[in-house]
Amino acid sequence: MKVIKFGGSSLKDAETIDRAIRIIQQKANEGPELCVVVSAMGGITDELIDIANTAAHQDIGYRDRLTAVRKRHATTLNAIAHGDRDTADIIQELCLELHGICDGIYALGELSQKVLDRVMSFGEVCNAHMIAAACRQQGVDAVFTDSRELIFTDEHYGRARVDFEHTAAALQALDPGISAIRVLPGFVARSVSGRVTTLGRNGSDYSAAIIGAARGADMVEIWTDVDGVMTANPKHVTSASPITKMSYIEAMEMSHFGAHVLHSPTIQPVMEKGIPLKVCNTFNPSFAGTLIVQAGEHNRVITGISTVDNVSFISVQGSGMVGVHGVAGRLFTALAQAEVNLIMISQGSSEHSICFAVQSSDDAKAITAIRQAFETEIEAHMMESPVAEQEMCVLAVVGENMRHQPGIAGKVFGALGANGINVVAIAQGSSELNISMVIRQQDASAALNVIHAAFF
Ligand code: ASP
Ligand code: MG
Repeated sequence: MKVIKFGGSSLKDAETIDRAIRIIQQKANEGPELCVVVSAMGGITDELIDIANTAAHQDIGYRDRLTAVRKRHATTLNAIAHGDRDTADIIQELCLELHGICDGIYALGELSQKVLDRVMSFGEVCNAHMIAAACRQQGVDAVFTDSRELIFTDEHYGRARVDFEHTAAALQALDPGISAIRVLPGFVARSVSGRVTTLGRNGSDYSAAIIGAARGADMVEIWTDVDGVMTANPKHVTSASPITKMSYIEAMEMSHFGAHVLHSPTIQPVMEKGIPLKVCNTFNPSFAGTLIVQAGEHNRVITGISTVDNVSFISVQGSGMVGVHGVAGRLFTALAQAEVNLIMISQGSSEHSICFAVQSSDDAKAITAIRQAFETEIEAHMMESPVAEQEMCVLAVVGENMRHQPGIAGKVFGALGANGINVVAIAQGSSELNISMVIRQQDASAALNVIHAAFF
């Protein structure tokens, strides 16, 4: 059994959908049971979010934009599955329902994340109906299968957490005997109480992995618009090349660190079951892509370099911290309570400071939380009032073969130093899988290039 997933850029219009259908046809011929997971048409999720916000600001402009969304779906459907009245009716119904929800947002002038999840879900649901119709048009027997009845989550709207037990049971109960391929909307799920939830932006990859893991797939394939996971972001490094084979752990590190090809939670479910994951290019289907399995390639030192851009760097420092226990505990508890996600942490052994990087959008929240938690120490001048340094970047050098191999850090920092790039903070976990550093955003492109040149 196989799961293949297509991203929005592979399904943005009739022409790209046609390419995808050809790939689906080929996979359908390769073996029994195929699940196709789809994202919304390219750009639709952003547009739906914008429309909902426009309605919430009581700007009537949301109506015309909804009409444009409906027309885009209707026109595309007409091109890929001409004459399929049933599907056209379904799309029409869905668009009417969406319109009703947006009218409600407009009337109330209010938009909660819960309602936004409902709004966003239409992108994937409509597209899954359309792709199933397009398959049938091309002679591939296909049925729409609703992920909102199969993937169960909590009610953490916007990025709900999967209830794997419930989900596996529902997915395993799906009839394996059908010969039709199933087309499922990615990204969307439901809470146990029946509310629509979503798995976080770009979450369709995750849907594919969840389905593949529960159904014991032989392979999960992610079809996107690049040749695989790259050694570095090709926008910055022209000599970047696709990685042929890498381990689950490396892929996890790379995707956490900004290699946007894969949504980072995707690896976990397939890794647990040892299911190979492949990243392929819809626009270059004969290319091998990147294969992600238990063990990566053994004859290279590092696998890739990636960055998390536009982060803020915060350091908490003061003489009052030296030798005092519980400071780190209080600090990270305060940040956790404020729901601040930490990208990287570093503390020198002098214990004089703890520094960390957060998404810039979180920095004000982080500063407030720290000032509150350490009010007494700050007032007594035992600790400095923290400030956020913005426009920073976390760069990570990733590779399993760095383990137990001396000289890698020397080579990385030597290359940076020789090119006058200042490193603000460094972290390496004892897994030795990843060396991370904070640099200025303006240095990011140069840093990527010099490190890439040093290793590849
Ligand atoms: N359509 C959703 C998004 O844009 C999910 C996905 O594309 O994977 O975030
Ligand atoms: Mg996407």
